[in-house]
Amino acid sequence: MKILPTADLLVSSGTHMKKLQAGGEVDSWCTKCRLFLNHRIIAMMGSKPVRVECSTCGSHHNFRARPPGVKETGSVRAPSATASTATRAPRQSTATRAAAAELAREQAWEKAIAGRAIADFRPYKLSATFSEGDLVRHSRFGDGVVMRVIDSGKVEILFKGEARTLAQGVAD
Ligand SMILES: [Zn+2]
Repeated sequence: MKILPTADLLVSSGTHMKKLQAGGEVDSWCTKCRLFLNHRIIAMMGSKPVRVECSTCGSHHNFRARPPGVKETGSVRAPSATASTATRAPRQSTATRAAAAELAREQAWEKAIAGRAIADFRPYKLSATFSEGDLVRHSRFGDGVVMRVIDSGKVEILFKGEARTLAQGVAD
């Protein structure tokens, strides 16, 4: 009579492999931004994402595990550094720890934007470049604060309850 929640066990087993599912996040090549970016999964085929929504530009397109033209082996640049370094939360992830981290993020976000004038926020644009601590207004994600400049093409912005890696400095 006992039903084991296998799916839950899989998710909370503490490995760094997050179980992919629709609504979850995955790194994908964005066909519009032409960058490797954080995407939200729209549709899955089996265990693989097929349709994704770009967290930066909001466009919907097919999931691409790597940039066009980059072969799985023998490429000059190893794409390994781009994945899985977005969050550096402690590994011992219990439910309470996750909740505490979320609360801490929320408080950090509130502290960063509390009492700031609308004029202090810069509208988020692909072509703009940001510095740590900049206040940003995004058309989809709302108000945020730049936590980290990853490189000249990417910034990590904390929006309400969620940090996102977005592109910056993209010339059209
Ligand atoms: Zn995009």
